[in-house]
Formats: sequence, structure tokens, C-alpha cells
Amino acid sequence: MTTENTASSHTTQNHNTKNVTDSYGLHQSILPSNDGLYGEFGGKIAHPQLAQAMSEIEAGFRNIIKDDDFITEMQRLRETYVGRPSPIFHARRLSAHCGGAQIYFKREDLNHTGAHKINHCLGEVLLAKKLGKTKVIAETGAGQHGVALATAAALMGVECEIHMGVVDIKKEHPNVSRMRILGANIVPVSHGAGTLKEAVDSAFETYLNELDTSMFAIGSALGPAPYPEIVSYFQSVIGREARVQFLDATGKLPDKVVACVGGGSNAIGLFSGFLGDNSVEKIGVEPAGEGLETANHAATMTLGVKGEIHGFKCYVLLDKDGEPASVHSIASGLDYPGVGPQHSLLKDNNLATYESATDAECLEAFMALSRLEGIIPALETAHAIAYAMRAAKDMSPDETILVNLSGRGDKDIDFVLDKVDLSK
Ligand SMILES: *Cc1c(COP(=O)(O)O)cnc(C)c1O
Repeated sequence: MTTENTASSHTTQNHNTKNVTDSYGLHQSILPSNDGLYGEFGGKIAHPQLAQAMSEIEAGFRNIIKDDDFITEMQRLRETYVGRPSPIFHARRLSAHCGGAQIYFKREDLNHTGAHKINHCLGEVLLAKKLGKTKVIAETGAGQHGVALATAAALMGVECEIHMGVVDIKKEHPNVSRMRILGANIVPVSHGAGTLKEAVDSAFETYLNELDTSMFAIGSALGPAPYPEIVSYFQSVIGREARVQFLDATGKLPDKVVACVGGGSNAIGLFSGFLGDNSVEKIGVEPAGEGLETANHAATMTLGVKGEIHGFKCYVLLDKDGEPASVHSIASGLDYPGVGPQHSLLKDNNLATYESATDAECLEAFMALSRLEGIIPALETAHAIAYAMRAAKDMSPDETILVNLSGRGDKDIDFVLDKVDLSK
């Protein structure tokens, strides 16, 4: 069988470096130009003072990733604090239930703090310290980035200031409590709609006044340069581990790798390990919300246009006035009208494809994984699971799908209990 031959040829190679074309560690297809561009996407911020701060962060980043002390420290924290490598799990009952391909999970939900975001937050706070900064500043919507950043800041003795809309503060109370307990200072933002967009503006305003002492720490693989590069670099540990583990477990590469896409950090982390493998299909799954035919979705890649948001170019959903649209998803971590510039480019170059799953499919997948495997996934992650369940049915039992289980669903249980009839 051809797959067996592929298997043996792959296992004799060095898995860690085989598909990495640059000593730098990221595949060339997602590396920026000197102008911070990924094809026509991404870009640098124009504001002169901020531009200077961004250059300082970029130079600092390029230095530390070659620094042995930094690499050793990052490795120590990944192993002894986060609990890496996260395992690969063969979901046998879920696979049998779908009746087609074998579904595997990369268990980022088992990381300390329960999701993949800790991977880049540790990197960002370590970088801030190396740059001599005493504080990290960020915005948060659902609070997931805020919690991961507050965790890393507590660990490293760095001050942490989180800007959050007043509407989100009410909605996401458990995460607000977590951040407070971890020692973060929460800045409530009440102007405008009091949600994520206003929180971003407010955080940037504060940062502008504290450029010497603080660093802005973004929550996904997006924003102006150098953030997409930094976040994807720190998340690439997912794909690097997954490729080796999957080969060890099955003797071949997966046929498809699948991840949900909000801003795109967990997806770029997984994809990055397989960008040198043309046989592996990369699929990002966006929230179709109440349906692609309605106004209530956040399917940026599927229905968006090329535009600009928060200082960078990407696919974006715009409203009638040409402003970033207010979008909807059952998963607040996917609720963003833009997407990372690397995904925008991968789509245009046909190196990855982007599908979507509705709120209803997401809830179904959430319950299926809970009941069939005893794993309660985050609602964000459940979008990727929903797609995998759909795709598996049309594949043969000797084919495989590797899904990034980006986070656990403890945060979502009350919401789901309200929506789902458990007696059925
Ligand atoms: C934040 C979050 C996401 C979405 O963010 P990406 O940057 O697109 O990965 C997905 N899953 C979980 C569990 C999250 O917390």
C-alpha cells in the first residue's frame, strides 16, 4: 500500500527539521518580508512612536530566539510548567461513531490553564523581561488571553494590565476573577459598545504612554508586525510535536490536519508543522454562527474581503459603511471580523483551505466528544471537531484526521447546559 511506503520513508528522516527550510524555525510560506508583509497581507504600523516600539520588539525577538539561555528557559517551562509535550490521542469511539476516517486529537486542552494560549503568553512575557520591561499590557474579549497572560506574568514577576469592555466583564465573570486572583489589574472600558474593539483601542492608548516600561502582548497570530511572526513562532511547538508524535503513533502522516480559526494562532501552530508536507491537507474551521446566509456569523475567510483592521491587512468582514462588522459566534474566542495575515496568504496560495461550522453543529460536536470520549472541549474547539466529524464520514477507515484540541470546555458548561436538552 502506498501509505505504508510513505510511512517508512518519513520515519527514517529527522522529523524535527525535515520540513523546516530556515534555521529560524518557521516554514518559509509563513515568514514575513522586511516590511512585515505576507504577500499583500499584514504590514507594519505607521504611527512613528509605535513603529519604533515595534522595531524594538522585533529586534529583541530575533535575538532571543537565538539565545541559548532563552531557549533553555523556554524548554524548561514547556516541560515542567505547561506540561509539554501534550499527547496525541486516538478518539476510537468518536471515529467509530462517525463511521469513516480515524480521528486523532493533539491535546492542547491538557496544558496548564487549559488551552494553547499559554504557549505564546510565556514567550511574550519572557520577551518583555529580556527587553527590560516591567509590565505587559493587553486587551481581552472572553478573558482567555487575559488569563493566560496573567498566569505567565505571575510566574515571571511582571506586572499585568488587562483592558476589557464592561459588557465582557459582566459576561465573563469567572475569567475576570481568575485574572484578579493571579494579580492582574483589570481596566474596565465603558465607551462605545464596551466590548473587544474598544478594549483594543484603550490598551493601545495606555501602551503609547508607557512605551519605555511596558510591552503590548497580543492574543493571537494577528496585529501589525512583528506580532503574527512572534505568536506563530511560539505556537509552532504544537505542529512540531504533533508531526513527530503522529508518525510515531501511526507510522504515517495524517491525511488532514484541522483546527478552529479565530485570529488563527492555534491553527497556524498546528499547520506550521506540516507546511512542508504537500500530502497533508490543512483545514481551518471558522464559525458559521447562525448560518452563512444570515448576518450572524464570523466566517472571515469564507465571506470576507481584503481589507484592514487594527493596523494590518487581512481578510475582513465589513459592514455597509466599510467598517469591520460586528460578528457573531457561539464561541466568544472566534468572534472577530478579521483573521491573521498568514492564514489570509495560505488561503490565496491554496496551501490551506477554510471551512465553517454553525453554532448548532458546534453544540452537537461538543456533546458528542463529551459523551463518546469523556472530553469536554471548548466551544471554539468544537467547531474543528464538528468539521472533522463531517469530513470523516466521507473518508475510509485507513485514512486519518488530526484535530487540534485547542482548549477544554470548563468555561462553557453553564452556557451549554442552557442550550442543550440533556434528556435527549
Ligand atoms: C482563543 C481561543 C481560540 C481562538 O484563537 P486562535 O488564535 O484562532 O487560536 C481557539 N480555541 C481556544 C480554546 C481559545 O481559547
